[in-house]
Amino acid sequence: MTSHIMPTYGRLPITFERGDGVWLWDQTDKRYLDALSGIAVCNLGHAHPSVHQAICAQSEKLLHTSNLYGIASQEALADQLIIKSEMDNVFFCNSGAEANEAAIKIARLYGHQQGIDKPCIIAMEKSFHGRTLATLSATGNPKVQEGFSPLLEGFLHVPYNDIPAIESVIAKNNTIVAILVEPIQGEGGVNIPAYNYLNQIRQLCDQRGLLMIIDEIQTGIGRTGKFLAYQHNSIIPDICTVAKALGNGVPIGACLAHGKAASLLTAGKHGSTFGGNPLACSTALAVLETLDKDNIIQQVESKGAEITKRLSSLLKNNTSVSNIRNKGLMIGIDLDSPCAELVTTAQEHGLLINVTAEKTIRLLPPLIINSEQIELLTTTLSQLIEEFTTPCKK
Ligand SMILES: *Cc1c(COP(=O)(O)O)cnc(C)c1O
Repeated sequence: MTSHIMPTYGRLPITFERGDGVWLWDQTDKRYLDALSGIAVCNLGHAHPSVHQAICAQSEKLLHTSNLYGIASQEALADQLIIKSEMDNVFFCNSGAEANEAAIKIARLYGHQQGIDKPCIIAMEKSFHGRTLATLSATGNPKVQEGFSPLLEGFLHVPYNDIPAIESVIAKNNTIVAILVEPIQGEGGVNIPAYNYLNQIRQLCDQRGLLMIIDEIQTGIGRTGKFLAYQHNSIIPDICTVAKALGNGVPIGACLAHGKAASLLTAGKHGSTFGGNPLACSTALAVLETLDKDNIIQQVESKGAEITKRLSSLLKNNTSVSNIRNKGLMIGIDLDSPCAELVTTAQEHGLLINVTAEKTIRLLPPLIINSEQIELLTTTLSQLIEEFTTPCKK
């Protein structure tokens, strides 16, 4: 039968029926180890009891009332996010792109407040910020932008992990109001910058009065071993966006602001019908509570180290593997040639992985993965890589 869904995704020919922790089962009851978590969304794994309970309890009471009224769970979630992030306030929405839209609007208000008519944001090459017109204009990937011109004005792209490039753009341009950056580029190929990259951007923003906007949509909610990845650098951005794992699968996004950035979005300037509704917020509260109660984030660094250590040792003689790196449970394995077909071979072997930037295998397993599952993941994957990179066996 032909599908009536617009073909915006190249989908694998599997459909999942149910999940439990790191496991998924398809319609034929075949089991898969999920090392992608629905693209960094299901950090607590599938069908987590606390998430399930929060959804049931809230749906029994109330799903939605709109932001024309107070929402207790939204207040409580904002309080939790503020405590955890050291930011000042939050705007709630339903996705990552929407969180970045709010961030971009704040940056533009900030520029206009200083009399800059055409405020401009520095963004990075190979970045990914979403698919709406503003966020795809911010995205530093011509493939994402192709066919959608005219793009939104007001973004200048510089290479990632390149402070002099930012400095030179700032020196030549007096309309720059903000710098938008991912702590690690996820879609761009798990690109981990120099340790002090974010500190240097923070410093530049302070010196020039620019807003530092950190897109933590993929790196946030514990993925890298801190609640937010910028906490590895002991800095506070002016704006931080989160989404993906915040609701463990229930759509929710948030734009967090600090200091001068926190007072710009006032009544009538922005909004969202669904944003921060009772269902999404009580689910997110359960997610945060579970992360704390089970000390999940504290274990992320050792689990990530275990995975890279095992993979490095299993693949140490494989010359086609050029790099294995991680920050917490965000893991990249570079091969020396395009390897998109590994996704299909892995799926046939009951393992769900992703390949991004053509040659980079990306792993984003649920944060609750245990050592036995890590062993299975790394043995299976290293065997698949060996077979893939050994021509005679192909
Ligand atoms: C996924 C992602 C987005 C977009 O989020 P959506 O919820 O798909 O709109 C933006 N930025 C980064 C870094 C992402 O990984």
